Amino acid sequence: MATSRFSAMIHSKCPKCRVGNVFEGAAYGFKKQKMHEHCPHCGLKFEIEPGYFYAAMYVSYAFSVAEVVTLGLATGLLTKSESPWVYVLVLLAAILIFAPFNLRYSRLVLLHYLSPKIIYNPSYQDALKKD
Ligand SMILES: [Zn+2]
Repeated sequence: MATSRFSAMIHSKCPKCRVGNVFEGAAYGFKKQKMHEHCPHCGLKFEIEPGYFYAAMYVSYAFSVAEVVTLGLATGLLTKSESPWVYVLVLLAAILIFAPFNLRYSRLVLLHYLSPKIIYNPSYQDALKKD
């Protein structure tokens, strides 16, 4: 069965073959997040054109706003605090904790959903099953 687009994105797989990993290593760790330049399975160049991942900033911005608004409201509801420092500390911590997630998934959303030039080719997965 072919991997769904959403499942491939969640597991940070290549948008063309849905087999190769887009990133080296895990999202959370002490090593710097590094992207493969080309897909290790099908050879797709992830940065289609120079500066392509600047567009991921818009996706990352949307993620950040969603996280900050949700956590700000949750903090307000749970603590009922009127001190701005409670919010500053919670949101600052949240921004730092979510940064690796935002970096990774903003690029993956860009590659999987917002890049019409990249088309999924199921034959790469079919070729694996024959081996
Ligand atoms: Zn690939």
